[in-house]
Parts: sequence; C-alpha cells; structure tokens
Amino acid sequence: MAASLDDFCAAGLADLEARGLRRRLRRIDRREGVRACLDGRPALLLGSNSYLGLEQHPRVREAAAQAVAEWGAGSTGSRLTTGCLAPHAALEREIAEWFGAEAAVLFGSGYLANVGAIPALAGRGDLILSDALNHASLIDGVRLSRAETRIYRHADVAHAQALLADRGAFRHCLLVTDGVFSMDGDLAPLTALAALAEEHDAWLMVDDAHGIGVLGATGGGSAEDAGAPVPIRMGTLSKALGAEGAFIAGSAALVDWLRNRARTAIYSTAPAPASVAAARAAIQLVRESPERRATLRARADFWRSGLRALGFNVPEGITPIVPVLLGEAGLTLEFAARLEAEGVFATPIRPPTVPDGTARLRATVSAAHSEAELREALATFGHVGRALGVIPAEADDD
Ligand code: PMP
Repeated sequence: MAASLDDFCAAGLADLEARGLRRRLRRIDRREGVRACLDGRPALLLGSNSYLGLEQHPRVREAAAQAVAEWGAGSTGSRLTTGCLAPHAALEREIAEWFGAEAAVLFGSGYLANVGAIPALAGRGDLILSDALNHASLIDGVRLSRAETRIYRHADVAHAQALLADRGAFRHCLLVTDGVFSMDGDLAPLTALAALAEEHDAWLMVDDAHGIGVLGATGGGSAEDAGAPVPIRMGTLSKALGAEGAFIAGSAALVDWLRNRARTAIYSTAPAPASVAAARAAIQLVRESPERRATLRARADFWRSGLRALGFNVPEGITPIVPVLLGEAGLTLEFAARLEAEGVFATPIRPPTVPDGTARLRATVSAAHSEAELREALATFGHVGRALGVIPAEADDD
C-alpha cells in the first residue's frame, strides 16, 4: 500500500516538474520590513500581500503580545462550542461599525469564509453567477454549494446579464466576485454589478481580500471606493491588516444565518486571540492614517509605470498588485530565479492559479517600500528582462 501511495505521489510530482508546474516552499529565515533572508540569501520582497507593512507595526505587535499575555495562545475551538472570547466580539462590532453594516462574523481565514458562506446561501435550485477569474476559495465555495453555476467572462457585466435570462427558473441568485482580482490587480465593475443584482433580484457577494485597507476613503475597500451597495462583504484580516482570519459583514439577519449555517464557522476553531487583537490595532491604524494609503498608491503608480516604461507587459491599474505577464511557466520560473540571484523576490504564478499561457510574476508593492528600493528593483527587472529577451534593449533606460 505505502509503496503504491508513494508511487502515485512521485509520478504526479514528476509530471508537474516536467510541465514547469511543481511548487516548492521558500524558506524565510529573517524578515525586517521589506527585506528578508530567503533560502540563505538577502532579498528585497516584492511578493507580499502586506500592502501597508502593518504586520510589523509596533502597535500591532504590541496588541498581539498583550493578547497572548491575557488570553493565551489559542482560542481553543469553535466559538459556538467553547465560547466567544471578548476580543472576537469586539472585533466583529468594530468591523460592522467601520463598514456601516449591522453586524459581522469572523472566520479562521478567507478561504474558510468563502467555502462556508456560499453553500450557506445557495444550494440546489439556486443560481450562482461567478466571475471567470474569481479566487480559488470562491470557486470551491461555489462547487460545494451544488447550485447551478454559470461563469461569466472576466468583469463582463453584459455577459453576466445574458446568463440571467432565465433567472425566474431559480429560487435565489447569488452573484460572486473578487473586489480586487488577486492575480491581476484589477477591480470588479462593482457599480454595474450592484445595479444588475438589484435589477434581477440577485444577492451580490464581494470578496475584498485585497481591497480592505487599500481602497476607499476610510480603507473600507472596493465597495466603499465604488460607493456600491454590497449586501455580502467578505474581507480578510491577513493582507493589508497584517493579521490572520476573515469576516463577512452585512445585515444582522445575514450574520446570524451564517453563524448558524456556515459550516466553517460552526466546525472550525476561531482565529487566535493574538490575530484578533492584531487586526483590531491594524484597523485603527488604517482608519486613522489615510496617508498610508496615499503612500501605497504613489508607490504602486511608480512601480507600475516604471515597469511599463521598461517595456514589460503590465496592464494599467491602481492597486499594489502588479502582474508582469510572461506567458510560459518555464520562462516565468527562469525570470524569478534570475531576479532572486540579484536579490529581488517576486512571486512566479503559474497554472492552475492563472489560465494556461498567462503565467506571470506577481510583483506587489507596499507602503513600506521606499522609492529608492523600487528604483533598485526596476533596474534588476530591466537586466533580467533584457537578458531573457522579454523586453527590447532600447526600451531599458535604467
Ligand atoms: N480571497 C482572495 C481574493 C484571496 O486572494 C485570498 C488569499 N490569497 C483568499 C480569499 C483567502 O484568504 P486567506 O488567505 O485568509 O485564507
């Protein structure tokens, strides 16, 4: 038995290797700001989701440390089973207040929020419309729901509308989308989607993992930025907020239903007290310091326009997620390896995370990068891009 199990795994791994799709963990031994020791070598990090650098902020660290001192290391179970610790209840109230929502419910992670909430809201006899580039956790939630599922072309509201032609044949309709697409960095057309949902009596759910803390007048994310009514707002505590966990904010009825029916909230351990305390401190920082978002936006603009000026295939955008489109998985790995040899880490992203033929480097920036660091990284991207024939020599002005 054991031999055939290992044979199965080894054959699968060999196949992934041959196709340039095998994944390996990278070891970070030390991390300070946006610099780290990666597999024994110094690296400037351009692959993090920590868009504001808050996971290392003194107030966030201090809040986490105090929570460990007061509550211990773990939350010890599902809150329905083992009790709801006071910091968790406080965080839910604070998120609801921040979003102008009636209530919010916490989950252990964004993945858990999506795979728990979607099947609680739609099932057999219901219809789900889902953007073609939605995050894997939304896709898995949709699959678990057993609802009729229709995928609309990325950000194509007319296509979504066409797929609603027989809406009357279904009980509920749930429309799910990323707010900021995690591998492309573009925004969902939320105003138009909200209008479509309203017109067809559909419920709009937005996964704003990458919008929270980054977009909107108070950092409330893409729905706040668009001014669009979104009844089901999911966000993570793990990216711009630098902690761990996730939430869904909405009406009191929605939140109470999810507490009762979202299996990943009922049967899974609540986030650790330290994560909850860190998230509370980070939310305060996000709300009281809009200049962090302004710095982030300036860095993102600088980085994106610098890469475009070098001749890279980088779409226009406003978020800190900057995809450098390379196409083939092998070229993407080679590019990432050469960057690393020169002290820059950007994440190679390959299928199945992105569609075949669209492998890329996902080069994210944060408010913690200085302009000088980004200039240094642009020079490195320039060398490597030229050496691999990805950008023309004459376009390199570093
Ligand atoms: N949604 C999106 C759009 C994401 O990018 C991610 C994380 N990569 C998640 C959900 C899952 O969040 P978490 O990492 O907290 O499980």
